Order: sequence, then C-alpha cells, then structure tokens
Amino acid sequence: MNGALHANGLSKRYRAGWALRDCSLRVPSGRISGLVGPNGAGKTTLLRLAVGLLKPTAGEISVFGWSPTEQPNLVLARVGFVPQDRPLYRAFTVDDILQLGRHLNPRWDQALAVARLTRLAIPLNRKLAHLSGGQQAQVSLALALGKRPDLLLLDEPLSNLDPLARREFMSGLVEVVAAEGLSVILSSHVVAELERVCDHLVILNGGRVQVVGDIDELLQLHKLLIAPRVDPKSISGDATVIRATHTDRQSAMLVKVGSEPVRPDWEVHDVSLEDIVLAYLGNPAAATLPAPAMEKAG
Ligand code: ATP
Repeated sequence: MNGALHANGLSKRYRAGWALRDCSLRVPSGRISGLVGPNGAGKTTLLRLAVGLLKPTAGEISVFGWSPTEQPNLVLARVGFVPQDRPLYRAFTVDDILQLGRHLNPRWDQALAVARLTRLAIPLNRKLAHLSGGQQAQVSLALALGKRPDLLLLDEPLSNLDPLARREFMSGLVEVVAAEGLSVILSSHVVAELERVCDHLVILNGGRVQVVGDIDELLQLHKLLIAPRVDPKSISGDATVIRATHTDRQSAMLVKVGSEPVRPDWEVHDVSLEDIVLAYLGNPAAATLPAPAMEKAG
C-alpha cells in the first residue's frame, strides 16, 4: 500500500547543486503530516515534485500510487496545491477566481469554497490585489479545497497570517480533514502550530530525510536526560544522543531512547515536538526513521 505519498531514492538536482538527495519516505493517508526543515532544506522542491511541476533527477515519487509526471491527470485531479508564492491573478475578484476553479475542476464544490470565505468575512466581489496577505492565503486554501482533493499540499501557508488567523486556519484544516478524510502535507517553520494539529512529521535537512514518523511515537521515543556531568559517549545502553548541553556540574541530553533502561540516578523528562525538531536541526548527522511508522502506510 502506497499511502498518500511515497518517495524512493528521490533526488533532485538544480544547476547549482542537489536540492534533494536519496530521499525515501512514506506519508500515510488520512493524516496531517508536518514537513519541517531549515531554509533551503528541500521542502518546496519535494512538494513541487509531488505535483509534477518538477521531474526527479533520480529515484521515484508517487501520489496514491501514481507518478505525477507520467500520470499527471490522475494525480492533479486528486491533489490541491497551495504554493508558497501564491500566484493568484491579482486583477481578478474572489468571485472570478472561484469561477475559474469551477471551470478547471470537474469535482469543484462551489458551496464549500463560498462557505469558507463567507465565514471568514472575505468579500467575494473584492479584487485579489486588494486583499491582505492573510486573506489571499485563505482564498488560495478555499480554491484548493473547492477541488475536493484527496491530498492537500500546503507550502508554508502560515507565513502571512497573524496569530489568530493562524490558529483559525489550522482549526479549519483539522475540521476539513475530520469531515472529508483527506490527507494533508503542510510545510511550516511554526513548529508549535504543527504540534497542535499534525499527527505525522517529516524533517528534511540539507536535502535529506532526517526524521519521519508518527508524532506520538516520536514523542515517546525521545526524552531529555539530566545527569551529573557526563561525556555523552559514555551513555550506557543503546540510546542515541541527539543534542547535549553541559554546565560544570550537569549534562542535559536529548536522546532517542533505546531498549535498555536509563540509569536510575538520571532524571528523565518528556520533551515537546519543538525540542525534538530543534535538536535534529542542530545535528544534521542524526537521523531516525522509526521502522513501525514507515510500514504503517494508510
Ligand atoms: P524555504 O524554507 O527557505 O522555503 P525549502 O526547504 O522549501 O526552503 P527549496 O526551495 O526546496 O527549500 O530549495 C532547496 C534548495 O534548492 C536550495 O538550496 C535552493 O537554493 C535550491 N533551489 C530551489 N529552487 C531552485 C531553482 N529553481 N533553481 C536552482 N536552485 C533552486
């Protein structure tokens, strides 16, 4: 079973160099998956490959089992893509752009798109150029949802939104996913928001997949250990140190726990998703690809 998106050895090279290198991952369907990574990590490149806007240099990518470049009609009919740069036709009114959506998409749901925009008090007769950045983001989302996609790809949709709009956007997304059962891949730098709504996470770093897995599993797998000052290499057992900080007397280590118990004289604390993400981003050599999550394609 392929899940919503499956990549195998996926690589993309631009003239300047590799943007993605040998990426293998599986995103299960029916879930909201967060895609995080530093600037230039390859997130946009991955999303553009998923909709066939780019062709892999090597390896494969499939969406619901279909190739975006070889079977574009099958893929595009089922995927809504909200790109980072939102190339909306600025001279169009909101209503015009909805009409365009209706003409271009056989499964178009005008009522759903209009209901969302009305609820957000976005006037349908206003030109897109005269909407705020956040309102334009909402129109892009309404357009993507109006297609009734099975997979929604959102490239940094939160970047133009104020904190309240962010929260509303994310709550709206959770509602739609629950009601329609669609799959979402959402790239963002706002990890705290991702933690609230996502149940699956992919971390890209330097064009490589660093972490992929269920968020619940990742939270269980990672702990903060506080110990009298130690050399992280001396950690007994099979835990992996992802990040360590030391004072004269103490060491604090974010670890991926192994099967062996932690020493009883060490404190063990839970960590947040943000702690995990920051620890991995600060240590590009570390990687975790929890086997159960890889196999659990929806
Ligand atoms: P950000 O968080 O800044 O949006 P990103 O993770 O989405 O970054 P990408 O936009 O996928 O990263 O870029 C990955 C790498 O590929 C970067 O080094 C970038 O400079 C390069 N790149 C992206 N698009 C092109 C392009 N059209 N031509 C050449 N290089 C590109």
